[in-house]
Order: sequence, then C-alpha cells, then structure tokens
Amino acid sequence: MATPLTKRYGDSLRTYFSGSPLNRVSFLRDDYKFLSDALTNSATRFIAMRNFDPAVTPSSGALKYLSYSDVKTTIGNPFAKSEKEVLAEWDSTKVYPLLVFLGLDESAEGIKHEKYSGVPYFALDVSPLQPSATSSAYDKALAQLATSITDAGAEFVSIRTNYVLNYNESAIYAMARSYMDWNLRNPFCAGCGAKTMSVNAGAKRVCPPTDSGKDKPSCPSRGVVTNISFPRTDPTIIVAVVNSTGDRLLLGRNKRFPNGFYSCLAGFLEPGESIEEAVRREVWEESGVKLGKVVIYASQPWPYPSSLMLGAIAEALPGDGEKIHLEHDPELGDAQWFPFDVVRTALQIAEQKSDLLDISPADTDKCPIKVPPSKAIAHNLMHAVVNDNAHLPRI
Ligand SMILES: [Zn+2]
Repeated sequence: MATPLTKRYGDSLRTYFSGSPLNRVSFLRDDYKFLSDALTNSATRFIAMRNFDPAVTPSSGALKYLSYSDVKTTIGNPFAKSEKEVLAEWDSTKVYPLLVFLGLDESAEGIKHEKYSGVPYFALDVSPLQPSATSSAYDKALAQLATSITDAGAEFVSIRTNYVLNYNESAIYAMARSYMDWNLRNPFCAGCGAKTMSVNAGAKRVCPPTDSGKDKPSCPSRGVVTNISFPRTDPTIIVAVVNSTGDRLLLGRNKRFPNGFYSCLAGFLEPGESIEEAVRREVWEESGVKLGKVVIYASQPWPYPSSLMLGAIAEALPGDGEKIHLEHDPELGDAQWFPFDVVRTALQIAEQKSDLLDISPADTDKCPIKVPPSKAIAHNLMHAVVNDNAHLPRI
C-alpha cells in the first residue's frame, strides 16, 4: 500500500548485504549472563569463518551453521564469568576465541531473556592463528574444527565477488565479516601499543589496566572517560551520472576490471566533505565530468572491510561539463557516455549472474559492455535511471 513517503519517493530499495533479519540487541552485549545463555542454547547458530570466508554448503549456497555442541570443546564458554572478572583476569600471553555476537532471530524459538527471545547467532573465527601461537592447544582445536566442517561437505567460500548467499544471509555475513576484520586488525592499543582485548562479545576492544593481575604502564587511553575502541565504518560514494539531456549514462572501466566491464564511478569520502561534494569531486577527478544536482538514492554495506556505499544519482552540467578526460586521476582505463538502451541490454544480461566480475565471451556478441549483477548497488543505480523508476525526490 502506498504511504505518503512511498508516493513521493517510491518504494525502498533493499540492497545486498543489508536488511539483516537479526535484532542486534546491542544493549545486551555487556550482559554476560545473557551471552552465556545465548552461547550455550541448543538452538544457537554459529557461522564459522576462515580468513573471513564463511562456511557454506555448496549445493544450496546457504551458510553452514554449527551448534554449540560442535564448538564447545574448542571455545568453552568465554561468557561464564562477568565481563569485569574476565577483564581482571586478562592475560596477554593467552589465546582467546574470537567470537562475535550477531543478534537474535526473533522469528524462531530459542532463548528467552526478559522481553527478548529468539535464536542467537554468533560468528566464530576458525582461521589458523599467527605463527607465534601455532603451537597452542587452541590452534590445534581450531584446525580440527575447520577440518570437521569441510569433512561434513561445507566449503569456506569467498563472497567478495561471488554473491551465492541469499539476501538475509548476506546481511548476517556482512555484519560478521566487518566485526571479524576489525577485531583482527586491532590487536594492539593505539595509545600504548599493548595488546587489546575483545569485550562486549566482539563489539568493542579495550586496553585492560592489568595484565595477568599486574598493573600495566600508563596508557593515554586509560584513566579518561573511556579506553574503548569501536569498529569504524568508512563512507564511500558510488554514482550513476546522467547527461544533461537525460539519455546517456556515464560509466567507467577501472584499470583492474576485465576488458568491456563498466560500472558506476565510486570513491571514498574525505574528511570535511558532504556526500554531494564527494560525489562531485570523485566524478570530476576520475572522468573530468562536472556535476550539477546530486541525489542520494540508496545505501549498501560493503564488508571489505567495513565501508558503507552511499548510492547517488547525479546529472552532468551541459556543454563542457559533459566532456570526458581522464588525465586528473589515472584510476580509470576508460569512461564513456552509453545510450540508455545499451545499458538496459547489459543490465538484462547481468540480471541472473551472481559473480561480480563474470564476463563470458558469448555475452560480448549481444552487448558491447558488461555491468555488475543485480546484487551490486551499481546495478541498482543504473537500473533506476535507465528504467525511469528512480522515484527521485521532486523538491
Ligand atoms: Zn593502551
């Protein structure tokens, strides 16, 4: 049913990696009694990840979930004590499981905690440890666990360019991957260089005041309001640029892309820049095209490692504004204005593909260019423009 907002702006677009079915209940992440119950519940689902790749059942393309009984001997129960006690007992020479609480699937039966219920989801890192810890019992247990997963027919699959997961699972995986990556990239305190500790079930890291019960040297991150670090999200823009007469789309071929593969232009936001300014700057730097109006259309989490793609549609200024030249920033191998009908054909061919960079020779006969599949926000932006269903704000 049309609502006042959908009448004006059109339906919301659900992008891949977004729309998780889980309630994150982020306010329960420091409640270790809740986490302990969630961890050990028989309905709880664990996503095993090796080098950031999730375990997937190849025949169905679905995540292969483990239960607590599968992981119990490997990880024990890191939430058996309170966070305060765990922090006081922190020992930097020990290896701790990297476990991230992802949330509750409230549509299914699992645990009940006050007014919250559902099936808890966790992500568990089963990657081999750093060489310094490879002789540990934990490392051996991890290797056994990873082997048992592959023996059961699952594979650790890269989702970076091959979007095999369905939308719900893509969103669960995106959260898991970003948190996992952030924890693994931040083993040391930015203030004093000592090892940090994962708390709040993988959602925060702290520089503990003691190590094996002994006070540590002072750290600029302690003794103030907080010594906590949080995961960051890096905003990125991606844009479908329309010419001033509204019949051609500007697409670029990154030098890293296969020949014939074109997509929307994209780049990172810089400090002190609005989204609209970043869109105008990136497009000018990469293609020489100058933009007028910029409209934000949709967003997509991009868990490599933790970007948020801000999808925009923009129009070029007429005349010289539409001139392409690539000499500012040498990132693109090519950029061209493509007629809408060429883009439409390319989108239709790409529709059913799941591999971001798939470019089969047979397709070249049907259309001169290849574009990303429908699970890529670039595809969604192009589609909205060339099929005239962008529902852009008319203000
Ligand atoms: Zn520190």
